[in-house]
Parts: sequence; C-alpha cells; structure tokens
Amino acid sequence: MRRPTCPTCEKLVDIAANPHRPFCCERCQLIDLGRWFDEGFSIPIEGEEDKQLDPDADYSDSED
Ligand SMILES: [Zn+2]
Repeated sequence: MRRPTCPTCEKLVDIAANPHRPFCCERCQLIDLGRWFDEGFSIPIEGEEDKQLDPDADYSDSED
C-alpha cells in the first residue's frame, strides 16, 4: 500500500488528521490550485457541453 504524499511538495501526508488532504498543508493546497488556474487559461474546458447541441436538429416544435 502506497503512503499518501503531498502532490505539491511530495512530503508524506498524515491523511487522518489533515484538513488539507491530499496536501500536507494549506500552502501546498493553494499552490496546486494556482497551478490549475494557470493551466485553465490555455485549456478550453468551459462550453464543451454546449457543443453537444446539434445545430441541424429541429428544436422548434413548440415555437410555432
Ligand atoms: Zn506539501
């Protein structure tokens, strides 16, 4: 069984008594969060579900 480590600094984390798990501390949690925000600007994730709407489909049944 692998021991849990902090994704940011890779220190061993005490999961049971840690409110910031899987991080070792609040600081590492914020660092990781900031990393995600940085990458978020270059990865177009938002709006992906909207593209499932088919523009050729007939949605006007009840609008007539
Ligand atoms: Zn850490």
